[in-house]
Amino acid sequence: MSRLTPPIDLTTARGLADAVWGEAVGDALGVPFEGLARDSFTCTDMVDGGRHQRPAGTWSDDTAMTIATCDSIKTCGRADIYDLRLRFESWMLTGAYTVDGCFSVGRTTRAALTSGHGLRGEWDNGNGSLMRICPLAFCDASDDDVRDVSGVTHAHHVSYETCVDFVHLLREAARDPVALWERLALEQGGRPRRRVRSTGFVRDTFDAALWSVGTTRSYRECVLAAVNLGDDSDSTAAVAGALAGVIYGAATIPAAWMDRLRGKGTIEECLF
Ligand SMILES: [Mg+2]
Repeated sequence: MSRLTPPIDLTTARGLADAVWGEAVGDALGVPFEGLARDSFTCTDMVDGGRHQRPAGTWSDDTAMTIATCDSIKTCGRADIYDLRLRFESWMLTGAYTVDGCFSVGRTTRAALTSGHGLRGEWDNGNGSLMRICPLAFCDASDDDVRDVSGVTHAHHVSYETCVDFVHLLREAARDPVALWERLALEQGGRPRRRVRSTGFVRDTFDAALWSVGTTRSYRECVLAAVNLGDDSDSTAAVAGALAGVIYGAATIPAAWMDRLRGKGTIEECLF
């Protein structure tokens, strides 16, 4: 395994925008391949099609719920779970925070927003709160705030603690991207791809994101590796993309992908 340091520009402080652009581009790359078996396709670029039949550059629930969270924090000045729930409902029911409508809602998320409370079952540990939690890393949120925000939809302790772990990791990435990348490269470098699971289970998504970051040397390589794991390609690449966005900086996202990304104004308006 190479111990070389990746080409990281240390002159720019990392923050929310790096995470959110990184997530949106990863999400949009993965959308056409969502649900496809590993190695039944190869993603090399941002394309259209797939199960959802959306134009290239369309991002999904992962980014929509992330920017709804940004907008809530921007408006309330903190993580307010009542305000957040209203924004999630408006996303699910009216297509707020989307490019052209809401086209994918997870089972637990739908049940939680319909019933008015987060689900606590062992089987309610999909990645539906992990994939929207990154804004919490860039505001003054405690671990309990992170758990509360997860709990709007995903209220089992496994989801809580995975969200807390991810927020800590994003903060570490913003503080010292080189040290974090080196640590992940050491931890993940020897892990064969066949041992990496990319289902919708929250721990799998987190773990696959760490592998994608730790075994690659750029934002581009990282998100393509994540999408190509297959299964829950868009959420895996969204989570990996948020972390890689913070490590490498949004400026390193390929310009052709940023050009093709849809709804950039909607994302931009929600950043704080
Ligand atoms: Mg999605």
